[in-house]
Amino acid sequence: MGCEACVAECPHQALYMNDEGQCNVLENDCVDCGQCVDVCPVAAISLPQRAESKEQSNNTSDKNVISENKTEEKAVKLEGDLSKYQGVWVFIEQREGEIASVSLELLGAGRELADKLGVELSGVLLGSEIADKANNLYQYGADKVYLLEHPGLKYYRTETYMQNFVQLVQKYNPEVILMGATTTGRDLAGAVATDLGTGLTADCTALDIDPEERLLLATRPAFGGNIMATIVSKKHRPQMATVRSKVMKMPKPIFEQQGELVKVDVEIDESQLLTKVREIVQQAGDKVNLQDAEIIVAGGRGLGDGDNFKVCYDLAKSIGAQVGASRAAVEAGWIDHKYQVGQTGVTVAPKIYIALGISGAIQHLVGIRGSDIIIAVNTDPEAPIFKECTYGIVGDALEIAPLLKQPLQQLLADKKAS
Ligand SMILES: Cc1cc2nc3c(=O)[nH]c(=O)nc-3n(C[C@H](O)[C@H](O)[C@H](O)COP(=O)(O)OP(=O)(O)OC[C@H]3O[C@@H](n4cnc5c(N)ncnc54)[C@H](O)[C@@H]3O)c2cc1C
Repeated sequence: MGCEACVAECPHQALYMNDEGQCNVLENDCVDCGQCVDVCPVAAISLPQRAESKEQSNNTSDKNVISENKTEEKAVKLEGDLSKYQGVWVFIEQREGEIASVSLELLGAGRELADKLGVELSGVLLGSEIADKANNLYQYGADKVYLLEHPGLKYYRTETYMQNFVQLVQKYNPEVILMGATTTGRDLAGAVATDLGTGLTADCTALDIDPEERLLLATRPAFGGNIMATIVSKKHRPQMATVRSKVMKMPKPIFEQQGELVKVDVEIDESQLLTKVREIVQQAGDKVNLQDAEIIVAGGRGLGDGDNFKVCYDLAKSIGAQVGASRAAVEAGWIDHKYQVGQTGVTVAPKIYIALGISGAIQHLVGIRGSDIIIAVNTDPEAPIFKECTYGIVGDALEIAPLLKQPLQQLLADKKAS
């Protein structure tokens, strides 16, 4: 049906849409991983080799059968016994002792969920020599902080973090766990949910509570972004969700707020672990920091061609903004993917988002809804972006963008002075 969900999912860029809007495969690039099969909402894709090998492995692999049973055993089949599971937890991600901002944003979201459930909000902080960071977490809403300190937890490793996190869950039985949809959070959430045999909704754009059933209502785009699905985990606990940075608002810290520190004993036997961190190599890259940008000037297909992207760079330079782009502009080869804003790009929350020649497809809008002000320039007065923006200008972006420089510079100067 041409939803492109498989194209977005393919880790090897082996799928593309042809001129008739159908999906084609580049056979030399396809490695038969099957991710497209799993993501297709209408079961339109099949891999004969994969079906065969699955059958074979079902017949021969004792190991798999054992691990499946193990997961089944651990899975909590709820039959009315909800009272055992209480509390909302947020995994507090840190690197070199610095707390990830998404964890603080999730404390804000977790606070609201915990209040609706009438339970405590806890942060779970793993690392080495990081006890002094706990205070910070109370200020952002945590009633309690579980602190797991050990030299072996200094750097994130799936095994050590997953094992310790799972043990903690099994001891204290939280009903909701939130993690940032960062590289670390995605890895840990998947590992923890799999080990506990519970449900995980990834990349949520909204979270709420059904107070009667005490269910986490986790909303995220589904079927290639064509619908927003609210997903619940009715029979399993804890209910888990990951959320990307900047999707939730950063709560205002309340500096006098205090909480309870629970120090958890940690034992790590390095000889039993498969991974060791030998060295951390920090490499300076060509950094595009869209997530933290206060002003973004983004260009879309409406700019007409790559050279016209200059209007974005010029305007951005004159007002100290970061440049962004729609997926159509990225796919046209006008700008690198790291500039892409939206569902399969970066979620942003600037003070001002300027969209030049961008129609406002849902997959783009989900990435910009955290913006304080959206200014859209589009030649089509019916463009969907005009329903979402704060200020809309019907006109040619190539003509309008240069005219925005002066008033925006003035506005920023006035703001600075006041
Ligand atoms: C699974 C999936 C994931 C996706 N993820 C993303 C994502 O992360 N980010 C994203 O952006 N998209 C994403 N998309 C694509 C999305 O659906 C749209 O196709 C895309 O956002 C369109 O980009 P656009 O607005 O630049 O182009 P178009 O939709 O082609 O819009 C161009 C707009 O420019 C206007 N225009 C034309 N000329 C001018 C002019 N001279 N001046 C001003 N306006 C002009 C037109 O009226 C039109 O509204 C995804 C799609 C799928 C299926």
